[in-house]
Amino acid sequence: MSEPEATPESEAALAKAAAWGVHLVAVPTPFAVGRVNCYLLEGDPLTLIDAGPKSEKSLDSLESGIEATGHKLEDIELVVATHQHIDHIGLIGTVAERSGAEVAAIDISVERLASFTFGSERDDDLAVDLMVRNGVPREIASALKEVTASFRDWGSPATVTKPVAAGSKIRMGSRDYEVFLRPGHSPSDTLFWDADRRLMFGGDHLLSHISSNPLISKPLVGEGDRTRALLDYRKSLALTKADPVELMLSGHGLPITEHANLIDKRIESQDRRTGKIFDLVGAGHSKAHEISEAIWGNIALTQAFLTLSEVIGHLDILVEEGRVTVSNDGEFDRFEVAS
Ligand SMILES: [Zn+2]
Repeated sequence: MSEPEATPESEAALAKAAAWGVHLVAVPTPFAVGRVNCYLLEGDPLTLIDAGPKSEKSLDSLESGIEATGHKLEDIELVVATHQHIDHIGLIGTVAERSGAEVAAIDISVERLASFTFGSERDDDLAVDLMVRNGVPREIASALKEVTASFRDWGSPATVTKPVAAGSKIRMGSRDYEVFLRPGHSPSDTLFWDADRRLMFGGDHLLSHISSNPLISKPLVGEGDRTRALLDYRKSLALTKADPVELMLSGHGLPITEHANLIDKRIESQDRRTGKIFDLVGAGHSKAHEISEAIWGNIALTQAFLTLSEVIGHLDILVEEGRVTVSNDGEFDRFEVAS
C-alpha cells in the first residue's frame, strides 16, 4: 500500500487549515497504512488530535512536527482521540504525561482506552473465534493472533480525563466543535465538526485514497458478541454525506474536499462487492473464508481477519436484507441463498 502524493489541491487545503491555526503533523507508523495524520490546533486550549503509535521514531517526529509549528509538546493542553486504534492512540499517554494535558475521547471508549491490553486481547480472541467458525484453519488463526499480539507494543493505555458524549460540544483551539459518533471502521469513530468553517476532523471514517476497513470487533456498549461493522459503517456514511463539509482532515492520506462524491464511490464499490458475494454464496461457497479465498486467493490467508471482516460485513447485509440465511452446523457458520 503506497501513500498518496501531495497535489496542488491538497496543498491548498492544508494551507487553508494552517491559516486557521490547524496544522498537520504526520507521524510514521510501522504499519502498512503508512503515516498517521495528527493535527495541532492553535489557541485555547492548545490541542493535539491523535498522537501516533508508541515508538521512539514516532515520538521524535511528533515532537519535531509540533516544533515546526512554533510550539512544544510540553505546551499541549488537550489531546484528543478520534478512535481506539493503536496507530492513533499509542502516544497519547506519553503526551499527557509530559505536558499535563487533559485527554478527551468519546465516552463509550473510556474503558477500552484505559484497559488497552485487556481490550485488545478480547478483540483478538473474538477474531480467532470468528476465523475458526468461518473456516480459517485453526493453526493459521492462532499464528495470526501471535502476530497481532506482537503489534500491541505500539499501543499503550490512555487515561481519559474529559469524556465527551455524542451530540455534545468540545472546545479545541479556541473553537467549539460538535461531537459525532459515526462507528463502522471502529466502534468509537468520532468526528469533530466546526459548522461555521465547515471543517471536519474525520479520523479513519473516510480516507482519500483507500476504503476504510470496517473491522469487526467487540461492541463497546450494548448486547451482542461482535459489531455489525459494515452495516454500522453504511449508516454512518449516510449521515456524513448529509453534512455540508468543505474540508475533512482525515487520519491518513490527503485532505478531502469532495466528501459526498467520495462516499458515493465507497458505497458503489461496497454494493458491487455485496452482489459478488451473493453470487459466490449462490455458487455453493457456504463458508465465509471460502468466499474470501475465492475473491483474494492467498491474501485471504495472510490477511485472514481483514478479509473475513469484510466478507462477514457483506454477509450481514445480505442476511439483514433476507437474501441469505445463516446457520451453524455445529462447527461452521454456513451461508445459503434464501429460498
Ligand atoms: Zn483506525
